[in-house]
Amino acid sequence: MNPNLISKVRVIVRVRPFLPHEISDSDRTPCVSVLDQDSESGEEVAVYLKDKDTSRKECYRLDSFFGQEDNNLGRIFYKEVSPLIPGIFHGCNATVFAYGATGSGKTYTMQGTDEQPGLMPLAMSTILSLCQSTGSTAEISYYEVYMDRCYDLLELKAEEIAILDDKDGKIHLRGLSRVPVKSMSEFYEAFSCGVQRRKVAHTDLNDVSSRSHGVLVISVSTPSGDGSVAVVTGKLNLIDLAGNEDNRRTCNEGIRLQESGKINQSLFALSNVIYALNNNKPRVPYRESKLTRILQDSLGGTSRAIMVACLNPGEYHESVHTVSLAARSRHI
Ligand code: ADP
Ligand code: MG
Repeated sequence: MNPNLISKVRVIVRVRPFLPHEISDSDRTPCVSVLDQDSESGEEVAVYLKDKDTSRKECYRLDSFFGQEDNNLGRIFYKEVSPLIPGIFHGCNATVFAYGATGSGKTYTMQGTDEQPGLMPLAMSTILSLCQSTGSTAEISYYEVYMDRCYDLLELKAEEIAILDDKDGKIHLRGLSRVPVKSMSEFYEAFSCGVQRRKVAHTDLNDVSSRSHGVLVISVSTPSGDGSVAVVTGKLNLIDLAGNEDNRRTCNEGIRLQESGKINQSLFALSNVIYALNNNKPRVPYRESKLTRILQDSLGGTSRAIMVACLNPGEYHESVHTVSLAARSRHI
């Protein structure tokens, strides 16, 4: 196998089911389907998008596809995310992004519900089990990046968190709180407070939670095993990205337009970074946005990452917008 063909950031698609109120008798065909799933090579899939009004079709190649019948727990976690976790105990970082328009299922995928836990709690619980067998300890941080500013969600602080890089290229978020977690109940206690805070942080604006990037970091410290007191640290970033918007199709004005400008800028910067990594470009443009700067030590190098492009099965144009950017980040 040609190593250049292995994407360093896996780009996968997830289509959510129609919601009860979205289903009308005439309108049950999702605009997205897949060919070539589990083809001989198993290395990529062809994702088809079809506009039922005009019969227009688009096709994109991506790393994997999860359809309406796949739940969070089932294949996505076990196939895509759990393989990243052992590396964290050996000091490697990893990142999982949920990317897509508002309403496409990003928060459902990352946070999930009580009945259907998302990738964040599933990863936490797998990490906690491994901590028991390795003598490691876990801590979480949770923050949001809104209008290119970074705010702590685990502790109420009005001021913005500053980003510093140390001489080894590690990124530090100054004053960001870290909460030790030994059990899922400790996790939910801290995390649910943060989720609540994210919802109410900007009361003057509607639904800021889908207009900021929400980043949960699970950091693991593992005894180095050489008899010394040294520890190896690795972290997993789980990110519910802000909803991407096509400004040609929405009528944003004022603060909304500024917000969506910042959102699109940072998503574009992210896609440029992933593109540079996946195509072995000599220069990776981490400094183009706050988000990519923060993730500099968790994307590229020995880090592994996955972008989950989330799609609403009833939104053709929106889905094309999401998948084309996802596919563009994947490779040439
Ligand atoms: P986003 O965070 O991208 O704006 P949400 O995660 O809030 O979107 O999802 C939008 C709606 O769709 C919510 O009501 C959510 O519960 C529902 N939903 C999303 N994904 C699924 C799924 N896989 N199964 C069932 N309902 C889903
Ligand atoms: Mg959301």
